[in-house]
Amino acid sequence: MKKFINAKYDCLSCGHSFQMPMVGDFSYGEFILSSANEYRYLNAFENSTFQEVINIIESQPNKNQVDIQEIFGKLVCDLDSFGCSFSIINCVNCVICNSNNLKLSHDGFVWVEPVSHLNWDKLQLKEKNQKYLDFINQA
Ligand SMILES: [Zn+2]
Repeated sequence: MKKFINAKYDCLSCGHSFQMPMVGDFSYGEFILSSANEYRYLNAFENSTFQEVINIIESQPNKNQVDIQEIFGKLVCDLDSFGCSFSIINCVNCVICNSNNLKLSHDGFVWVEPVSHLNWDKLQLKEKNQKYLDFINQA
């Protein structure tokens, strides 16, 4: 578990308020993932699976068309306790009206669990490559 800023967003378009963990300004390589139900964090420098996925991407001819931040959560991360997949949060939009016209304030801190890859880690390298290819071909 790691402590993150609890960011509070007030939507200036529809008035909805919501909160989610946020990485600080000096935390390069850290990401928050969201499943709509739960949050996880990823430190891309400390997470060996992140480098493993980079290696798989780099080994493929279409490597320039694939953004690891787009695929990482759904491809390799375990599902949340409701069976939903995680995605890396790149930009925050209102969960109700999808507006990005948000007022940000800080509201204390929140503890977040790291992402896990238990199901991915059960696979052999060949199966991981195949899962990757199946994933990007359907995306
Ligand atoms: Zn809104």
